[in-house]
Amino acid sequence: MAIAERLAAARRQRPEHHRDVQGGSARAAVFGISDGLLTNVSLILGVAGANPAPGVVRLAGLAGLVAGAFSMGTGEYVSMRAQTELLQRELDIEREEIRRHPVSERNELVGMYIKRGLRREVAEEVATVLMRDPAVALDTHSREELGVDPQSLGSPMGAAFSSFTTFSFGALAPLLPWFFTSSTRAVVASVLVGALMSIAIGVVIAQFTGRSRVRTATRQLLLASVAAAVTFGVGRGIGVQAS
Ligand SMILES: [Zn+2]
Repeated sequence: MAIAERLAAARRQRPEHHRDVQGGSARAAVFGISDGLLTNVSLILGVAGANPAPGVVRLAGLAGLVAGAFSMGTGEYVSMRAQTELLQRELDIEREEIRRHPVSERNELVGMYIKRGLRREVAEEVATVLMRDPAVALDTHSREELGVDPQSLGSPMGAAFSSFTTFSFGALAPLLPWFFTSSTRAVVASVLVGALMSIAIGVVIAQFTGRSRVRTATRQLLLASVAAAVTFGVGRGIGVQAS
C-alpha cells in the first residue's frame, strides 16, 4: 500500500505532458513543441514590444530557445531518473521478497486472483506456475503490485533528448523571421507563425483527445494570444531605457 501510494505520488509529480513510461512519445513531442512555441513567441514579442534593434530580439529569442531547451531537457531527465530509480528500488525489494518468502508471495498472488473471480484451485495453480521461474515471478508481481513492466522503465536520457529537441523546434519557429526581416514585418511574421502553429498543435491535440478540432485549436490559439499580448504589452510599457 505504501508502495502504491509512493508510486501514485511519483506519477502525480510528473506533469501530464511529460513522456510517460508507457510510451506516448508522440504526445510528448507535441506538448514539447507547444511549450517551445508559447515560451518563445511570448519572449520575442515581449522584447519586440520595446522596439529595440532587431539584433536584440534575435539574441533574446536565441537565449530563450537555449535556456528553455536545457531547462526542459534537464527537468525531464531529473524527474524521469527519480522515477526509474524509485521503481528500480521497489523491484529490488520485490525480488528479495520473492527469494526470501516465496510461499507468502505465492499466497499474495492467490489472494489477488481469487479477488478477481478465479476459483481457489485455479488461482493456486496459476500462482504456482507463475512463481516457478524467478524472472516470471518478478514480472508478475511488479505488474500486479506496482503496475509496471520491469522491462520498460523508460530512458531518462532519451526523454531528456526528445524534450530538448521538440522544445527547440517550437521555439525556433517564431524566431526565424528575425533572421530575414525586422521591425513590424518581423513582428507580424512571428505572430502569424505563432498563430498557425498554435492551430496546428490544437488540431493534433484534438486527435489525441478525440475532442472537437475547432474547439481545441481555438483554445490553443487563444491561450497563445493571451500570453503573447500580455508580454508584448509589458515590453511596450517598460520599454528600453536609453542610456
Ligand atoms: Zn509481491
